[in-house]
Order: sequence, then structure tokens, then C-alpha cells
Amino acid sequence: VRLHFLGAAGNVTGSRYLVEANGKRILIDYGMFQERDYLERNWMRLEAPPETVDALLLTHAHIDHSGLIPKLANDGFAGLVFATPGSVDLAEILLLDSAHIQEEDARFKKARHRVEKRTDKRPDVLYTETDVWKCLSRFRSVPYDRPIEVADGVRATWFDAGHMLGSAHIRLEIEEGGRTTTVVFSGDIGQSENPILRNPTRLDHADVVVVESTYGNRCHETRENALDALAETVNDVVSRRGNLIVPSFAVGRTQELIFFLKRLLADARIPELPTFVDSPMAIRATEVFHRHPEAWNDAFANRVYAGEDPLGFQKLHFTRESDESRAIALYPPSAVIISASGMCNAGRIKHHLANNIGDPKSTILFIGYQATGTLGRAIVDGENPVRILGSLREVRAKIASISGFSAHADATELDAWMASFGESPRHVFITHGEADAGQAFRSRLEGRLACPVRVPKMGDVFDDA
Ligand SMILES: [Zn+2]
Repeated sequence: VRLHFLGAAGNVTGSRYLVEANGKRILIDYGMFQERDYLERNWMRLEAPPETVDALLLTHAHIDHSGLIPKLANDGFAGLVFATPGSVDLAEILLLDSAHIQEEDARFKKARHRVEKRTDKRPDVLYTETDVWKCLSRFRSVPYDRPIEVADGVRATWFDAGHMLGSAHIRLEIEEGGRTTTVVFSGDIGQSENPILRNPTRLDHADVVVVESTYGNRCHETRENALDALAETVNDVVSRRGNLIVPSFAVGRTQELIFFLKRLLADARIPELPTFVDSPMAIRATEVFHRHPEAWNDAFANRVYAGEDPLGFQKLHFTRESDESRAIALYPPSAVIISASGMCNAGRIKHHLANNIGDPKSTILFIGYQATGTLGRAIVDGENPVRILGSLREVRAKIASISGFSAHADATELDAWMASFGESPRHVFITHGEADAGQAFRSRLEGRLACPVRVPKMGDVFDDA
């Protein structure tokens, strides 16, 4: 069994692993790099000829795990993409959105470059919406918890990872030379007690574990503290007569935020404000949430079956069209504006930031992870001024962060997830984290496990002889 680390190695985005065994090549995820320093990598071809890859197994639909699948297909990959039903539905939405954002940004950039009399040497987009439709025909739904033969001698099982709808840990059981090697890819691990999703699955055996470490060195505040902080932030912005701008992943984070705002409203802890979900895919994403009861936790299921709409309230507006989106700026404050992308590196959020970041009455609230090199990270780190839509803008709005709504397990939960394997792993690889997070997690694991614990670099190859 040979394992190639081709992304999310020493950084957080661009997840992709190539497994070679039994003369077969299997990819786990094929994500887009989102950190500014690594954007170049998105244009590179897979190191192995894409037509020689037998199958692609997707842990979940987030773009940093799925975002380059259409490009891989364009480059020659002709195999199937296996994913849970929730991931198949969300990948359609997210990949089409990714193509759409690229095409929209390219148009916007072109117009700006015409004014600035600059030219771009590179193609405008990594892939188009048409490319996405073509590659979606290769997707096949797989259920949770049932082993599937994805290639000769390779069985794969998807287990709920509680990170986003459809998310999974993937376990490979590889039969080679009369022995079975079990390799577990954690994918992104969720935080327990998600308001909608089930808790991450605990697995009890693996020879090789590849585990994420996004929050390998940090602990989240509790959900109750996060709710208190959300109430305080909303009330504060109302008292200052400003707007609350929330950059948020349109799928998952946004639904959870709606759920929490609704809960605060029901408890009369915040006034009912016009709340805009400015993302064309939010309505469709919410429909997908309704279509996948297999991913709901018991409490959420009970609310739905009691006739409640846990993801809606009266002043909540979904804005699909771009003229509706522009009209939000004309709305008198205070309003809550939730828009994507979550790290501010693309999409309509940039326009809302451009409109509000210079206003001391407004607040920009971050509720998700901000990767190095993204606009979101620059703002969180206090960079001032910041470049938005091609011009430098002074940051005068209040900048706030709440970590308790994170979709990722924190250090304590990562430790607990690893502990369920007991002493079984022979090799552990820590990926999907920045250097500090990976090293901190490693030193904790080394204290507990007898096996080698490595933090691979991009391009590293491991042979399990
Ligand atoms: Zn994810």
C-alpha cells in the first residue's frame, strides 16, 4: 500500500490523497486550494496520469475537498466518484456555485482590467458550469456504514463524520498478498452536539490513520457561550444602528446560524431584524437538508416531525438574484446579512464587505475557520487596510469572532476521536492543519501511541511494506 499526500499537507485546503494498492489507483478527495499562496497549485495536473485513476472517494462536498473534481475529469479522469447521497446533492450545488463564482469573478475582473488597461495571461476559470454537469454524471451514491467494493480488492465504507450534511470518515480495507490493511481517512471531523447533524462516528480499528488537525492546538468555547456571544453581537449592532455582516459557508454554517438566530428570537433575547441570506444556493441547500433525514440527529428530526420549520422565521429572506442582492445595501440598518464565501475569498460577501467594512457602526462577524492567505484571515488578523474587489479599504467596522459554531472538532474532540482506535494504528498521519496545529496534535498523540506519528509535507509518499 502506497500513500501519496498531494494536498492539505502542512496547510488546510486542497485535500487529496492518492492510494496505490493491488495495481489500482484510488483518490480520496480532490479539493481546491484556497489559501492565496497556494492558488497556483489549482492549475497543476495530478502527478499520476488522471486516466489511470480507477475511482475517487469523496469524504464530503466542501470545495476544499471536492472543488477540483471537474478539472480532474477535464484532465482525463474517467472513473466513478463515490459519495454519500447528501454529498452527491451538495456537491452538485457547491461545484456549480464554484464554477459560477469563477465565471462571475472573471467577468468582474475583466471589466476592471479593461478600465485599468491590464491583461491577464491565464485562462479565466478552472472549469465551467458545463464541465460540472459533465462530471456529475460520474457520481454514485453510497450509503453510510455499508462496505462497497470500489476496485478489485479494495472495500470502502463511509461513516458519518458529523461535519456537514453527508460528511464521512472513509475506511479502506485493502486485500493484498493475503493480508488486509485498514486505512482510515478522517475527512473533516465535526464538533459533537451539532444542532442538525449526528455526532462523528467513533471507529475502533485501523492500521493506518490519516487525521485532520484544523483545530489541533485550540479548544472552542462552548455552544452556550457562543449563543451568548451571538446575542450580544446582534444587540450591540442594533444599539449602534449598524449592520451585522456574517461571512458564512452557504451550506451548513448558514443553516446552523439560522437555527441559532431562531432560537435566540424564540427566547426573546434578540429583536427580530430583517435577515438576509444572500446566496443563490441557500434555498437549494436548505431543500437538500430537508431531503436527507438520514443525517439528522434525533432532536432535529423530532422538531421537523412535530411540524416546526427549524430553518425559517418571518423576517428571513433568501436573495437569489443579483439585483435583490444589490438592493440589500439600500435597506436601512440594522439588518443581518449572511453571505458566502465563508472565508471571503469569493462571492457576494465581498460586495457586502466593501459596503460595510468602512462603517464604524457595522460589525463583521466570523463564525468559521479562516485559512491563511484568505481575505477573511487578513481581516481577523487585524490587517488594515485590506484589498477588496481590487481596491484598498480602511477597516473601521467592528471585527468579531465566535468559535463555538465551528464545524470542526477542537483539540479535545480530536483527541477523543483518536482515542477510540486504542493501540491499533501502526502509522498515524496528521494532515489538514497549519504547522502549529499539526505539531501540537502530534506531540499529544506521541505521548499516547506507540506507533510513529508524522506530519507529512506536500508530495510526501509513504510505503506500508
Ligand atoms: Zn469540510
